[in-house]
Amino acid sequence: NTIMQALKNPIVLEQEEYFLPASIGVSIHPADGRDAHTLIMNADIAMYSAKAKGKNQVVYCDEEMKAQTTKRLRLTNGLYRALDRNELFVMYQPQMCTETRKVCGFEALVRWNNPEYGLVQPLSFIPLAEQTGLIRPIGMFVFEQACKQLIAFQQTCQERLTMSVNLSVVQLKDARIVENMKKILKKTGVDVHALQIEITECATFLDEPILLERIFELKQLGLSLAVDDFGTGHSSFSRLKTYPIDQLKIDIEFVQGITTGSDKDKALIKSIIQTAKNLGMEVLAEGVETEKQLQFLSQHGCDKVQGFYISKPLKVEEISCESLLTTH
Ligand code: C2E
Ligand code: MG
Ligand code: MG
Repeated sequence: NTIMQALKNPIVLEQEEYFLPASIGVSIHPADGRDAHTLIMNADIAMYSAKAKGKNQVVYCDEEMKAQTTKRLRLTNGLYRALDRNELFVMYQPQMCTETRKVCGFEALVRWNNPEYGLVQPLSFIPLAEQTGLIRPIGMFVFEQACKQLIAFQQTCQERLTMSVNLSVVQLKDARIVENMKKILKKTGVDVHALQIEITECATFLDEPILLERIFELKQLGLSLAVDDFGTGHSSFSRLKTYPIDQLKIDIEFVQGITTGSDKDKALIKSIIQTAKNLGMEVLAEGVETEKQLQFLSQHGCDKVQGFYISKPLKVEEISCESLLTTH
């Protein structure tokens, strides 16, 4: 508290006032460690928590914080070996055309079967994969699996099915991404026009000109481009103009608003659909869980839907041709 108090007053340097906020992490002997190394490490964890909570405060280390950090560390270490040990696999969530009410494609979603923690969801390990750069090989693994699976679906069920694969912006920064994807396209012989990549907008990266260039190169391979989670985060109208976008994916947040009764959500959905149409883009709504939501989206001209109401993400062996061809 004395340190925080001392830093409350601005420091004056050449007639300018500077405010220095402090984030302090505290660990206590012996609960948080018996040696200096452990104590400092735990104080550090608490300090990062203070920063994450908005800085300028004191945070004490606690058991949960320590457990979380340990889990993170173990997951990160495990992730280095996950690919070699065949612990990663891909699930496929059907996408349905609202007009025909038939499945017209899939989104590939990665999963991790961790020996210690069981099934780990992507939201827990994709950020770790991005920080460590492991998203590059993992992303290529998912892309290759998805290409092979698309061929299998097309051959056994319906030749016009499509496949959508998520691509992290970190992957786009990789100078070899285009070359690597091209290799996989060639190796598998997949129909590239049935493939789509999904990118979630992210303010810090997307304004780098090189990334726009890379997206154009991927488009040139014949892939189509979807903007994921549209309307949340960092979506911007100006990017709708500059990026060669084929599809907007309306975020689940708005879709849920249809049933929770928010008129604003409904109005926003209508506007997103109209905007997409006016710009010649396709629209898909994510996270559709009820008939009422489906009705609303379909009435307002949404082309495709995806969500638990149609189907949860499925393992390959759970997908049958009959269920794909039936009308919902
Ligand atoms: P996303 O691409 O927006 O994927 C949609 C997420 O919503 C999936 O979560 C899906 O299981 C979930 N979902 C689908 N329908 C419903 C519904 O009706 N209700 C609810 N509540 N949820 C629904 P999942 O599989 O946990 O993936 C989370 C995110 O992780 C994805 O969001 C995507 O951003 C990322 N991700 C998944 N696989 C990959 C991958 O291979 N590469 C990269 N870079 N990111 C991936
Ligand atoms: Mg997606
Ligand atoms: Mg999404």
